[in-house]
Amino acid sequence: MATHATTQVFAPNKVIGSFHPPKRILMGPGPSEIHPRVLAASSAPSMGYLDPVFVGMMDEIKQLIRYAYQTKNQLTFPLSGPGSVGMESSFVNMVEPGDAVIVMRNGVFGGRMVENVQRSGGKAIVIDDPWGSPCDPNKLREALQANPSVRTVGFVHAETSTGAESDAKTLTGIAHEFGALVICDAVTSLAGVPLLVDEWAIDAVYSGSQKCLSCVPGLSPVSYSDAVIDRVKARKDKAQVQSWFMDLNLVLDYWGETARTYHHTAPINSLFALHESLVMLQEESLEQSWARHRLHHEAFKAGIEAMGLKFLVHPDYRLPQMNAVNVPESFEPGVEAQLRKRLLADYSMEIGAGLGPLAGKIWRFGLMGQSCSRANVMSCLGALTCELPEFGVHVKMGDAEQAALNVYNKAAQHQA
Ligand SMILES: *Cc1c(COP(=O)(O)O)cnc(C)c1O
Repeated sequence: MATHATTQVFAPNKVIGSFHPPKRILMGPGPSEIHPRVLAASSAPSMGYLDPVFVGMMDEIKQLIRYAYQTKNQLTFPLSGPGSVGMESSFVNMVEPGDAVIVMRNGVFGGRMVENVQRSGGKAIVIDDPWGSPCDPNKLREALQANPSVRTVGFVHAETSTGAESDAKTLTGIAHEFGALVICDAVTSLAGVPLLVDEWAIDAVYSGSQKCLSCVPGLSPVSYSDAVIDRVKARKDKAQVQSWFMDLNLVLDYWGETARTYHHTAPINSLFALHESLVMLQEESLEQSWARHRLHHEAFKAGIEAMGLKFLVHPDYRLPQMNAVNVPESFEPGVEAQLRKRLLADYSMEIGAGLGPLAGKIWRFGLMGQSCSRANVMSCLGALTCELPEFGVHVKMGDAEQAALNVYNKAAQHQA
């Protein structure tokens, strides 16, 4: 007889009810807002990860990601995990112990690439550029000339910590002149600014579902060229990938083109959502998505500048989807956080803080995916207009909104 009667269980200290999140206006560095169609897709009944209907959807997801990346790479699929998994997967597969790897670092995420190289047993050769500037192609060329054994170059296309865009095409071209493969972080760039994986011949690229794709967080679309596959296959016996979960040789048993076998339980319902968000991108078209991000950035910028605020990044390489705005110099340390708290409490609006050396110095306004809308631009400018005077910044009611409206009206005339 089992002795269930004597088994002790612990109950929570109090009865916990269901969680009902408030509705937020998400204008930070991600996650971005999720369209009801995408949320609805994720709430469909779950199914088996080898169900033929599900497998058919997986094939469509791969095709849709190829469209988003503008690539014909066969090895294009979503990894189970956030953008960080795309980054880690690229490094653990492509870097062998002892490898020299150049990392271009101009913000937080370049710094994470350095850690990934080191944890993969590689030796990182770090090229630093100022936070808020793009990665300097001349420095890459010099570093490759000085270090001919380098096989891999890593850089971030869109540095979310600063809002600066680097020239992914030029950096990739230089790396190839020296026979190195590139790992390109496209977490924030995908669908927000042009990214042409095949035309620019990017070897390894990864992104995240929750930025300009506006999907639920936790998926990382990746694409790897044949050169990457060759490299990973070549290391199979001599230097096994140290991560079982991320070893592409194994993941391919599930996501590859031929027979599907169990590797890990795919996040089924999140993949329903990703499928829908990619269908929506296809409906809008990549070109329109890029143009929408550009338009709302221009309107937002006009409003921000009408309030006398300044951008961190030079317009030549400023990302439309990630707006880093300098905190006014008159702000005492710590006061900028009060503005962010006020926006969250009174407007249910999230904006981002600065990271690392930019902590306390900038605000980061994301205009990504579904969050990139006229309604959000106007709400945000209105909220800032109402709140900034309390922080000693003189702004006139209506100035910012009028400046933004002028941009929208001009664009509408242009279209008519
Ligand atoms: C957000 C981000 C990441 C990390 O993605 P997670 O989904 O948070 O793991 C990596 N690189 C860049 C440029 C990012 O913006």
